[in-house]
Amino acid sequence: MGVDNVSQVRTIVLDWYGDHFVEFPWRTSKNPYHSLVGGFCTQQTQMSRALDTHRRWLNAFPTVADLAAAETSHVIRVWGKTGYPRRAVHLQQSAQQCVERFGGEIPSELNDLLSLPGVGPFTAEIVRCFGFGLEVLTIDTNIVRIFGRIFQGDLQPIKDTSKNRIKELSNQFVALGRTNLINPALMDFGASVCTGRPKCEICPALNICKAATKFRSGQVPEPQRKGKVYAGSDREWRGKILELLRHYSQPVSEKKIKKILNLESDEKTQRLLTGLEKDSLISREKHLVKLG
Ligand code: SF4
Repeated sequence: MGVDNVSQVRTIVLDWYGDHFVEFPWRTSKNPYHSLVGGFCTQQTQMSRALDTHRRWLNAFPTVADLAAAETSHVIRVWGKTGYPRRAVHLQQSAQQCVERFGGEIPSELNDLLSLPGVGPFTAEIVRCFGFGLEVLTIDTNIVRIFGRIFQGDLQPIKDTSKNRIKELSNQFVALGRTNLINPALMDFGASVCTGRPKCEICPALNICKAATKFRSGQVPEPQRKGKVYAGSDREWRGKILELLRHYSQPVSEKKIKKILNLESDEKTQRLLTGLEKDSLISREKHLVKLG
């Protein structure tokens, strides 16, 4: 049986969340800066790793002004091995723009947030929902998956469910209020129960979900996305170069980087360094390389 009843689904998911609540500080601190940092930390990153980075970051840069004024090399060092280090640079650039354009405050208007470097709809709505307590829903892949399955019976909602329908459902959830609770509840429910390969057998929405019978009769679940191979990729090499530079307080020569990392050619070394420089992660002068 399927049911187009947002209120009922909301109650089920909130009940589930009551039993599975995990605290993440960017959701509960009611501080827009903490939420902005949380939004950056959670992009494409496991929550446990994001939590470590968030703690470390706020210890190093407790305020927007502290972050804006910091040495970029320090910012990159603090980001450490969290991955996708461009986020660290974008986060600092966002803080600098907040100081220059918004009097040192994080803006609450969606378009102002979206104008900051590295801030997309996901991060912007995290800030608005958790930092400012506004009634908005962060439409991430987890929420699309849940809505598309429960209300539409789509097995692969990311591909099959219309954006308009997702938006319409989202508006209905928002109209019922308490998005500061239903938002994380839906995100976590999608991340642990209604996953790519859904755990229908333990799902409290089993009896009202339009996709449940299809899954239980053996129809194909959402295919697992194949991630790009990391080993040997430019991404891995870029990480190695940054890791090496983190250990030196002085600039390091391009030749030394190539030698220590055993990079196979000058061309490859230059390609990697040029990419890092373009992303503002390193700077070079007379073949000497430093962070930031
Ligand atoms: S019954 Fe299965 S498909 Fe439906 S919401 Fe639960 S886990 Fe997702």
